[in-house]
Amino acid sequence: MAIQTINPYNNKEVKSFEEFSAETVEQKIAQADQTYQVWKSVPVKERSVLLMTVASILRKRKEELAKLITLEMGKLIAQSEAEIDMCASVYEYYAQNAATFLEDKPIEVKDGKAFVRYTPIGIILAVEPWNYPFNQVARVAAPNIMAGNVIMVKHASNVPQCAQAIEEIFRQAGAKEGIYTNLFLSSPKIAKIAEDSRIVGMSLTGSEKAGSSLAEAAGKNLKKSVLELGGSDPFIVLEDADLDKAVQNAVKGRFGNMGQACTSSKRIIVVEEIADKFLEKFKEKLTGLKIGDPMERDTQVGPLSSEEAAKKIEEQVNETVKAGAKVVLGGKRIAREGAFFEPTILTDIKPGMVAYHEEIFGPVASFYKVKDEKEAIALANDSTFGLGGSVFSQNIDRAIEVASQIETGMIFINEHAASRPDLPFGGTKRSGYGRELSELGIEEFVNKKLIRISDK
Ligand code: NAP
Repeated sequence: MAIQTINPYNNKEVKSFEEFSAETVEQKIAQADQTYQVWKSVPVKERSVLLMTVASILRKRKEELAKLITLEMGKLIAQSEAEIDMCASVYEYYAQNAATFLEDKPIEVKDGKAFVRYTPIGIILAVEPWNYPFNQVARVAAPNIMAGNVIMVKHASNVPQCAQAIEEIFRQAGAKEGIYTNLFLSSPKIAKIAEDSRIVGMSLTGSEKAGSSLAEAAGKNLKKSVLELGGSDPFIVLEDADLDKAVQNAVKGRFGNMGQACTSSKRIIVVEEIADKFLEKFKEKLTGLKIGDPMERDTQVGPLSSEEAAKKIEEQVNETVKAGAKVVLGGKRIAREGAFFEPTILTDIKPGMVAYHEEIFGPVASFYKVKDEKEAIALANDSTFGLGGSVFSQNIDRAIEVASQIETGMIFINEHAASRPDLPFGGTKRSGYGRELSELGIEEFVNKKLIRISDK
């Protein structure tokens, strides 16, 4: 895959970049390793000054950086700005809380003393996706840099300018060369880099295929890995839900970022008592939206991230419809230049159809009418994915009971799934393993070292 900016609004190439040579990669790993030897002993307070500076630069340069996101992957400009804010808050969160998270954890023992001390481990290699090009990186960079590790990032090939900008922001914030390194690399090179003993941990956010390939390389070299992979999140609406609130959340949850979020509410599952009413309101909210340039503030439907992404969704929808599903809204490419696809609702989806089993990474809601709560849970769990999900009910005890039966890493009650710095994020089943964000996120790549003191 070429490393290049192609504006998905018109599919025109803007800029392309050369992949790093093997010598450049070696020189960058050597620099990162040298910096790590110093950074690992820098007091947490000093590390937090760096991240607070990064956050403040992000906020100051928000407009310019948001435009870069929109240019490279087509996100609506207001949502790109919101991403920069969110990203800044991730750096601030770890800058402010890491000292507490990294405190020694005493262990109660019958004799003497024991505690766990968190110590850094080295260079962490992060492979990141384009859908939140600044925020996904922050989720790995912030906790690890605070923990005393250093980071090398191989970003998605379609967001090279965002990738460079992040490295440049660290430089502007005064980070020593090697604390944060951008790597222009093609994916097949990852397996080779994984063999390098100076790289001690690997994290990937992306598809199952990429995750499995990274996990294989990590496993072969006995390295810890974290995988944040795809999802097909269930969005369950029970008969006692606040209907308008549920519809509003379904629209945002499924169509935010043009449906290109791992935790998008991809499967809308509504009990039959209110299903028709829900569908009517849902469709109404998605009709007549303004299609256009994602840089314009009044645009409501922008392009997908790339022409390939739009083609893939077209294929998935066509195959599902050919197998018998119905299109209630949309269902095709928008007849204009650029990577556009109509906001779509599919119904009558059955096991065996593409939309039933695969993740659709775009503006397509799979709508299911089920008999009752029991059927909703069974359908929700009939998936190889296990990332997030939502339950809507005004009876919170009931919603918690349903939530506890759903096989995912996260469940949101009466709201669509979203990431926040203080809440752990991650999945189970084929959605990956490990956690980002919150206290759990900083624990992934540290040595939890036992220190035992005898009193004998
Ligand atoms: P992708 O193709 O897997 O790409 C993600 C990253 O992995 C990119 O940097 C890509 O580089 C790299 N990559 C691709 N194949 C690889 C391989 N064989 N070995 C090592 N690295 C490889 O995924 P995407 O289509 O960009 O992103 C969408 C997917 O990410 C969806 O499934 C979505 O659900 C998931 N996602 C998950 C989360 C989460 O937190 N769970 C968050 C966001 C997205 P190139 O660009 O150079 O190919």
